[in-house]
Amino acid sequence: MNFNSETMNLNFSDKVGYLTFKKFEQYPFLSHAFSTRLGGVSKNEFSSMNFYLSGSETPENIEENYKIFCLALGYDRKKLVRSLQIHGNKIKIITDEDVKSGNLNFSGADGFITDIPGVVLKTSHADCCPVYMFDLVKKVVGLAHAGWRGTVSKIAENLARNFTEKFGSKKENLMCALGPCIGKCCFEVGEGVKNEFEALNLGMTFEKNKNNKFNIDLKETNKRILENFGVPSKNIVKSDICSCCNKDWLFSHRATQGKRGNNAAFITIKN
Ligand SMILES: [Zn+2]
Repeated sequence: MNFNSETMNLNFSDKVGYLTFKKFEQYPFLSHAFSTRLGGVSKNEFSSMNFYLSGSETPENIEENYKIFCLALGYDRKKLVRSLQIHGNKIKIITDEDVKSGNLNFSGADGFITDIPGVVLKTSHADCCPVYMFDLVKKVVGLAHAGWRGTVSKIAENLARNFTEKFGSKKENLMCALGPCIGKCCFEVGEGVKNEFEALNLGMTFEKNKNNKFNIDLKETNKRILENFGVPSKNIVKSDICSCCNKDWLFSHRATQGKRGNNAAFITIKN
């Protein structure tokens, strides 16, 4: 593998390799991670740290991967929030009642927020952009899954708005990170998808490439959406890692025509 990043660190706990944002490491109350393919038990196209049940993958492997990953990061698996993501823009707030109910598996939400220490938010990714967010004063954390559909339906803004409206966060206290996903280098789309990005009116330009297609920058789009909402630019960091260019150690839908597992993003307030 070839790891090269100015914004992220590659860390190892035993054999589990995971990425963290350098900019987030100065906040002792926070723990966050983006998994790589390294350190799990899955085989073949799911090798090896896979969090996605499809094809020949088994539920046992996935549960074992969760176990290994949570142990490596010191996360309580019973407080792990999961969702069947639908490429929408719905944000679910995790409350004490949710935790007490013992069921933290949801469906239909593509993002979460909580202010409860020890609750671990998790989203799944294989080219789609993870949006990490926290309020450094109020100690609230959030996470969202933004593929192209989630991005154009402004899930990033929705996430930030839930912070300000439901938790009283000040926009200048919101710290955001746009995680590893398919980069502009590899995310080629047709006219229809391009038009949806253009309609956001974010001042971005779209020129035809040599294949008569358009290259889309998911991270920059989400950054501008957050800036327009009022999050200061200096509070937003973009990962410089493309999942599609690094398919040997990150899962990429596009690089494998869909024969792949999922990476996962995690964020939590330490107990
Ligand atoms: Zn790329």
